[in-house]
This record gives sequence, C-alpha cells and structure tokens, in this order.
Amino acid sequence: MTLGQIWNDFIDLIFPRCCEACDQGLVGNEEVICTACRVALPRIKTDSMLSDTLKDRFAHMPEIAGTAAFLLFTKKGKVQKLLHALKYKGRSEVGVELGFMFGQEMTDHQTLPDAELIISVPLHKKRIKKRGYNQSDLLAEGFSKATQIPWSGTILERSVNTTSQTGKTKKERRENVKDVFVVKEMLTQKSVIVIDDVLTTGATLEACVLALQKGGCETFYILTIAAAQH
Ligand SMILES: [Zn+2]
Repeated sequence: MTLGQIWNDFIDLIFPRCCEACDQGLVGNEEVICTACRVALPRIKTDSMLSDTLKDRFAHMPEIAGTAAFLLFTKKGKVQKLLHALKYKGRSEVGVELGFMFGQEMTDHQTLPDAELIISVPLHKKRIKKRGYNQSDLLAEGFSKATQIPWSGTILERSVNTTSQTGKTKKERRENVKDVFVVKEMLTQKSVIVIDDVLTTGATLEACVLALQKGGCETFYILTIAAAQH
C-alpha cells in the first residue's frame, strides 16, 4: 500500500464519501456512484418498446436522425435519486459522471451517433444563477470526455425564462418554449447531438433543434440521460 492510498483510506474514514444513488460508502477508486449501482442502474435497451416510443416523439421531424435515452426513470428509483441530486442538491459531479457513463456505453456498444458537436440544452441565466450550473452542460462535458466529440454550452442560448413545463399538454409545452432558444453564431458543423437530462414530450428539445437549424445544422441526434415508461 502506498502512502497515497493510506492517506486516501484515512480521509475516507473521517469524511466518508457516499454513492449518490444508494448512500453506501464508496470504497477504493469508486467515484460518485458505487460499482454495484453502476451495474444495476436500469438501462433502456435500444431495441425496446420504450426506445421506439421515444423515437416516435420526433417522427414528424425527419432532420432528427436518432433518439436515445440511457436510463429508465422510475418513481423513487435510483435514477430519480441521481437526477434529484444533480438538479436540486448541487451535486454537479453526478452530471459529469452520468454523461461519461452514457458516452462510454454508446462507444462500447458502437451506437455512438456520427456527430461533430454536442450541444447542451441551455438554461436561462437566472436559473443558472440559482442552481450554480446548467445540468445539461455537465452531461455534455462528461459525454464529450468519453467520446472525444467536442461540446458547446454557449452556441445556443435561452433568451426567455419560461415557466415550468410540468402539468402542460404537449401543445401547451410547444407554445411555452416556442422561440425561446437562439443561436449565437452560425455553425460549420452539420451534424450535432443535443443532450438533456430527461426526455418527456420532447417539446424543449424540438425547440432547440429548430433554433440550431437556423444556425446551419442539418442532422440531429437527441440524447437524454433518462426517460420514463409513460
Ligand atoms: Zn450505490
């Protein structure tokens, strides 16, 4: 055992680091999410019914060449706990880690879209100030780290601070986010990934795609960390 390892074990003893998904103590080289949870987190299979349902949400937009979600969101489940820690408890490292895991698995399974750039879904400045970060940026950062595809959190901007999408119908959601995103510069990249935390109706992601089209992008891949069954 090296002195460094002894020191790390000592620190773990005084300040136990816990898994953000199950609250068990992390050991050895484990970071943010323990090994058992990494294996057990429910993946959404690419050939599942849910996967087809998610693709269908963008069926009216042929410019969206692919849609994929990483983990299955269930009420009171570990995925919900992780996303809650990311969005409401200031656990920014959860975002980078989940993005990294998603990118790594897509690379391993050879399902990684052929894209030149990753774009995060922007938050309004006021909300970033409140939370301290944009969770979507962190997901993009982690995904980029795993896949070597560059990412940007500044090309697209949210100019209007919209009200919550919760409790709204798809039509109302579309209306609510219409024209809230603007591209700050023309892009040379034609094929981009748009990444976000959860895929619900897809209204926000759709609005991002429409804005990016104005910036010169042609082909889009929608990736989210989680999606729910219904
Ligand atoms: Zn765990």
